[in-house]
Amino acid sequence: MEKAKVKGFCGVFLNRRIVLAAILLTAIISVLSCIVSVVYTKANGRITLLSATVTEVDDSEGTAKPNVGNFGLSEQSGEWQTVQMRVTAYCPCPKCCGRYSDGQTANGHRIRPGDAFVAADKEHPFGTEMVVPGYKNTEPVKVLDRGGAIRGNRLDVFFGSHQQALKWGVKHLNVKIRRGLQMQ
Ligand SMILES: [Zn+2]
Repeated sequence: MEKAKVKGFCGVFLNRRIVLAAILLTAIISVLSCIVSVVYTKANGRITLLSATVTEVDDSEGTAKPNVGNFGLSEQSGEWQTVQMRVTAYCPCPKCCGRYSDGQTANGHRIRPGDAFVAADKEHPFGTEMVVPGYKNTEPVKVLDRGGAIRGNRLDVFFGSHQQALKWGVKHLNVKIRRGLQMQ
């Protein structure tokens, strides 16, 4: 009878341990799911933000504000900013330029072979320096041109031939813009 009692006690004890373990497990699972859901929400938020930015850029008709973020250099010099831009390419051919295919850019620059410059919205004054990753060895180039569709966060990089412009395609890049230094 003693053994049975002990066994019975043990059984109850075991059950309690199981119940405790179950409670602990539930708690752990709920905490984990909480963390997972928070991370998930954050990821979702980021994705939503990104797609909102892209939509904003795609629908921009000069109304979209640039997605300006401080670049590391700006802390030192106070002049470089990084802006996410939709970068397309063009050449001097009538297909790309239409009414502008007169061999001159919007600021009167006469296009020469090997030229490298960009067309940007008029919020970027002529002569503003930009660093476009992958364009002209990622060296600074100047804003010398405008474009009918080049508004807000859109940018057009110049190539000497239509083939090169086609090859560039459409890229979404973090473009570095130097503020406060202009020609004119
Ligand atoms: Zn062209």
